[in-house]
Amino acid sequence: MPAIHTAIHTDVALTMLNTLGLTAHAAQFTRITSVDDLQALLADASLRTQPWHVLGGGSNLVLPEVVDGLTLRVEIPGRRLIGEDEHAVYVAAGGGENWHQFVQWTLQQGWGGLENLSLIPGTVGAAPIQNIGAYGVEVKDHLFELTAYSLDDGRKRVFSNADCGFAYRDSVFKRAEAGRWLIAEVVFRLPRRPTLVTSYGDIDGELASLGLPRTPQGVARAVIAVRQRKLPDPAQIGNAGSFFKNPIVPETVRDALLAEHPQLVSYPAGAGLCKLAAGWLIEQTGWKGKQLGPVGMYARQALVLVNHGGAVRHDVAELTAAVQVDVAAQFGVVLEPEPVWW
Ligand SMILES: Cc1cc2nc3c(=O)[nH]c(=O)nc-3n(C[C@H](O)[C@H](O)[C@H](O)COP(=O)(O)OP(=O)(O)OC[C@H]3O[C@@H](n4cnc5c(N)ncnc54)[C@H](O)[C@@H]3O)c2cc1C
Repeated sequence: MPAIHTAIHTDVALTMLNTLGLTAHAAQFTRITSVDDLQALLADASLRTQPWHVLGGGSNLVLPEVVDGLTLRVEIPGRRLIGEDEHAVYVAAGGGENWHQFVQWTLQQGWGGLENLSLIPGTVGAAPIQNIGAYGVEVKDHLFELTAYSLDDGRKRVFSNADCGFAYRDSVFKRAEAGRWLIAEVVFRLPRRPTLVTSYGDIDGELASLGLPRTPQGVARAVIAVRQRKLPDPAQIGNAGSFFKNPIVPETVRDALLAEHPQLVSYPAGAGLCKLAAGWLIEQTGWKGKQLGPVGMYARQALVLVNHGGAVRHDVAELTAAVQVDVAAQFGVVLEPEPVWW
């Protein structure tokens, strides 16, 4: 059995390790910097009597004031070409790699596909958890397989794309398999001739106004410019990006709502379904720019919940409920939070 290289610390502050900046402590905390470290930890039965929590960049989490048990921060590095054929290259990345830096590295190598997902915070290992997506592309579109280790019995398992059960901001890792695996490595299949996706969120307009080339690198720069304008930087004001999912409803529900609210914003979501813009719904209830205690809905983007300072999980829960109640009362639609609540 490999020797344990990781130290276990007690009572570690997590306030700087979650982008909402919620005041939180881990009862026990360790950094996982290699698969060997992970396997040694998993083999130690004495650690198994307590709950384990897997932490990446903390950008999609609502943490309690005390996280019980052992928090494992994934810092497994590595990115490399592992194969290629006439249609695609296959690239592996460690679960602890920074997502945005990994995407920019693939683009520098001349491998397109992930450009629309530029500047999403967090780690490579967390990207499959909620099937991250932006500007018409989701991680499922390019994920080939991933390697994970069971937190129950330490066994290694390779999940194919189909095994991950991807859906909109969802995967098996948020449902049946929630909290059961640590994703150590992800393999992406990047097409040699990527199809550019530029019609969402006015990426076309951004390319034109900035005079950028219609290449994966050009699209990445356009996406970065749009995101920097629209989304608050967690370093300036605590947030977890979009706080609610866009609700998916039957077209008949959308049509009924449209009759009453002609400005309603919606997008097709396949087979008689459509996605309502949660930000628009929240804006109509008057929550945009409004505060409840130390938290509020961001003044420039109603979908983003922000921490004005010193907030704890309870403050977030209160605002979440208040927004949900008002949206349900006005539109009959239930908003579901996007982040994971520990
Ligand atoms: C400003 C901002 C903008 C954002 N924009 C987008 C966006 O456009 N699209 C989008 O989809 N998301 C967006 N997000 C949400 C977030 O960036 C993603 O969900 C990201 O993938 C979370 O990564 P993380 O490493 O921070 O995960 P964490 O927040 O640390 O963890 C999230 C969940 O994943 C689990 N997890 C983390 N790492 C692993 C691992 N290696 N193995 C197993 N489980 C793991 C955790 O246990 C937890 O359940 C945004 C967030 C912010 C703050």
